[in-house]
Amino acid sequence: MQSIAGALSFLGREAARIVLPAWCVACGVELPWRDRTASCCASCWKALPRITGVKCTSCALPLAGDDAAVRCIACQGSPLPVEWCEASCHYRGSMERVLHAFKFERHDFFDEPLAGLLEETMRVRGDLGFDAIVPVPMFRSKRRRRGYNQAELLARELSKKSGIRCRTDLLIRIQAGETQSTLARKERRANVRNAFHASHRAAERALLLVDDITTTGETLRACADELLRHDAARVCAIAVAKAV
Ligand SMILES: [Zn+2]
Ligand SMILES: [Zn+2]
Repeated sequence: MQSIAGALSFLGREAARIVLPAWCVACGVELPWRDRTASCCASCWKALPRITGVKCTSCALPLAGDDAAVRCIACQGSPLPVEWCEASCHYRGSMERVLHAFKFERHDFFDEPLAGLLEETMRVRGDLGFDAIVPVPMFRSKRRRRGYNQAELLARELSKKSGIRCRTDLLIRIQAGETQSTLARKERRANVRNAFHASHRAAERALLLVDDITTTGETLRACADELLRHDAARVCAIAVAKAV
C-alpha cells in the first residue's frame, strides 16, 4: 500500500511539474516543454548567481582575495562549530525567486535540480567523507502547514546523488521559535539556542547538515552544537544559497 501511495504521489508531482507551472518563476517567460529546469527556463537556470570565488570557511560568506582558508570578520570572533560551511549561490535575483517558489509556492519539484547544485559544490570542495546527510529539521506544526520541509527534500535528493544516507532521526526541532528572517542578527542566536535535539545515534558519525538558505548561520550553529554535544565525529554544512 505504501509503495502504491508513494508511486501515486510521485506521478502527481510529475504531472504537476509538466502541466502546472507554465511560466518561468524567475523571468516570467512562458516555459517550453523541454529546455527547462523544473519551473525555471534554461537561460535563467544557467544564469543563477553561483558563488565562484573564495568563501568564509565558517559561514560561506563570499570574500575578496584568493586565500582559501580564511574566515570573515564576524566569524573570527565566534566561528560556527563546523569544519566547513558551503553555499552554492548568492541569495539574490533568480536564485531568490527559485527558492521562494520551492519553499512557499509548492514547487517542491525543484528539489532534484537544487540538490544537483549542492552535489556539484561538494565535489568542488572534494569532501564526500560523511556517514550521513542531516537536513535542518522543521518544527512539526510548521511542517504540517507547509506540507514539507524543503531542507529534507534537498537532503533526500543529495543522498540519492552522493550515495550518502539521509538521516532524519538524528536531529529534531523541539521548539518552534520565530522565523529567523524576521529577527535582527543579534536576536537570531538566542532564538534557536535550544530549538534542536540530537539523538545519541549521532555519536561518532561524520555528518553533513543541509539547508536551503543560510544567512548569519545561527541555525546551522545551533544544529551543529547539538550534534557535537552528542559526540558527532565531525559536522559540516551546506546550503543552496548564502544571504547577507
Ligand atoms: Zn527565465
Ligand atoms: Zn564567516
